[in-house]
Amino acid sequence: MTPGPVEADPRVLQAMTSPIIGQFDSQFLELMDETMELGRYVFQTKNKNTFSINGTARSGIEALLGSIIEPNDKVYVPIFGRFGHLMAEIAKRAKGNVHTTEKEWGTTYTFEELKKEIEFFNPKVIAIVHGETSTGCMQPLKELANYTKKHNIILVVDAVATLGGTEFKTDEWGIDAVATGSQKCLAVPSGMAPITYNEKVESIILARKKIEQGLDINDYNDRMISSNYLDLYQNQEYWNSTRLNHHTESTSMVYALREGYRLLYEEGLENRIARHALNKRALVAGIRAMGLEIFGEENNQMPTLTCVYVPEGINDIEVREELVNHFKIEIAASFGVLTGKIWRIGNMGYSSRKENVLLMLGALEVILIKHHASIIQGKAVLAALDVYESAEENI
Ligand SMILES: *Cc1c(COP(=O)(O)O)cnc(C)c1O
Repeated sequence: MTPGPVEADPRVLQAMTSPIIGQFDSQFLELMDETMELGRYVFQTKNKNTFSINGTARSGIEALLGSIIEPNDKVYVPIFGRFGHLMAEIAKRAKGNVHTTEKEWGTTYTFEELKKEIEFFNPKVIAIVHGETSTGCMQPLKELANYTKKHNIILVVDAVATLGGTEFKTDEWGIDAVATGSQKCLAVPSGMAPITYNEKVESIILARKKIEQGLDINDYNDRMISSNYLDLYQNQEYWNSTRLNHHTESTSMVYALREGYRLLYEEGLENRIARHALNKRALVAGIRAMGLEIFGEENNQMPTLTCVYVPEGINDIEVREELVNHFKIEIAASFGVLTGKIWRIGNMGYSSRKENVLLMLGALEVILIKHHASIIQGKAVLAALDVYESAEENI
């Protein structure tokens, strides 16, 4: 129950044992097409460029930012936790002219705050995190996307910890490019970074086209994307019908991702979102019934992650170790200024299950009692059960 990597669905693990076939085998090409089509459902988009980068989530973020940003392009990164800093750093490495603002960890931006900064800086690109995994807070994007679309600003979103676990409508909201990771709500091992981007982004990528020397000796472009591996032109031309011979696609990871997508498709996006929301509600009810406090602003909580203050006098690491040793439950610590201050309890993908929530609450309570924390005893599991039972009555 960390915010990733989470348990892979057993069907995903089984799919990964399928035989390895070549990256241009016709069966494999069909499988890639099917995976792209399922990806469009997950991202809620019609973008033809909806594929994956072989690598962890940040490879998708880096491929997008590195392929979009050219030297001195103005990029605004509103930061509200660790992963905003990551986007800013990647944008700087891409040699953008990067402007950042930072809000206190545990909060998000109002649209007015963002608008003011955009009007002041006049960026070409905005890079922002949706669910900030370091704090458990989720940035509302609809109004921002509506604005950037009108003003022709490219909006790039890190939806790594939210896509597939909560509502995210790429096309309807008007987001230009999105990156996610396989090991979070998709219940697949780490190693694939699904991305999607629209024609506005594609037109930049086409203008920066540069095919690898050994494949096309006459090709020259002084605007070429600086990374070969993360060059979205060459990646998109491998995934589309051109079938450009770029990298050696990870067969097993495509099997895995397709299965992760199929599981989501079979469950249905609405049901998937409702399942995560219900488990979040039950978890929060249990945590509060124990007398513990939730970190971060109440209105913009991620359904896929809950951050909890470590109670007074309790050692964060000891409790997490005992959860693993006695109950085989893993939760996470936090980063930077929040290290030792909060626990981060994930609620993602296959791990987002009623029995996990109930077991976790019981286990945490017992360990805290053992450590003489001042908590309310005997209420947490009941409070969570109550949430489940009243939800069942309403069906
Ligand atoms: C996990 C995570 C990342 C980084 O993912 P890696 O797979 O470790 O590269 C980036 N952004 C967010 C919001 C995340 O939760």
